[in-house]
Amino acid sequence: MAHMCPKCGGEMKSLVRSLSARVGPFSVKSFLPAELQEYNSIEVRVCAVCGYMELYWLR
Ligand SMILES: [Zn+2]
Repeated sequence: MAHMCPKCGGEMKSLVRSLSARVGPFSVKSFLPAELQEYNSIEVRVCAVCGYMELYWLR
């Protein structure tokens, strides 16, 4: 499902990343403040045309 850029109407590329992924000995989640610990993944949408970026926190 394609998403449209709210700025230019271009196509948004979507990328979902798990916050449980590990960076060396740490999980990505361990770097987040306490109020974000309830989320399990993050969706990044980037417009292929103008570079506009949106972040969505997913439970
Ligand atoms: Zn755009």
